Amino acid sequence: RPTIGVLALQGDVREHVAALEQCGAEPVLVRRASELAAVDGLVLPGGESTAISKLLEAFELLEPLRARLRDGMPAFGSCAGMILLASEVLDTRPDAKHLSGIDMTVRRNAFGRQVDSFETDLEFAGLADGPVRAVFIRAPWVERAGADVEVLATVPSGPFEGRIVAVRQGKVLATSFHPEVTGDLRVHRMFVDLVRAA
Ligand code: GLN
Repeated sequence: RPTIGVLALQGDVREHVAALEQCGAEPVLVRRASELAAVDGLVLPGGESTAISKLLEAFELLEPLRARLRDGMPAFGSCAGMILLASEVLDTRPDAKHLSGIDMTVRRNAFGRQVDSFETDLEFAGLADGPVRAVFIRAPWVERAGADVEVLATVPSGPFEGRIVAVRQGKVLATSFHPEVTGDLRVHRMFVDLVRAA
């Protein structure tokens, strides 16, 4: 069973732990560098990216995490986790830090106040058995995806049609939405498979 860390500084940690357990992985909470060093992959949960950024610095995890990502550690970020994995973030606080796990520009709180939370079904590249139910909660979108970044899902219709909401670069996966809250394990399984293959 691959050991998969869940960054446990803030956010919906428990939901990711439960999903990983159901996928046959061994989830462990990560709050210190020694815990980070022991995992085969890491989930960055949904929550508040600027708060998590501050805590990454306070817990002296920012540089160790950047280093593990540079060394090829698989990672999956949902929502705030996607923001943290970006190489550039728009509409965030000037002092917020990010990890550059994926060559992408992410716009924080992109869907705006009128529709700050919504759900939709979307096609997700590489996942058979029909669309994924995507739950967006004050979600970001990917405004620029680098040349090596594979777009896995976009918003299918409505005012935000075509906006990029799931991407992968190598072993690093990110979604604007929260697969951990729907009971549909396919995105987590995809990540666990990436960790197994690494
Ligand atoms: N709006 C949050 C942020 O900026 C993300 C919301 C979420 O993770 N559901 O970090």
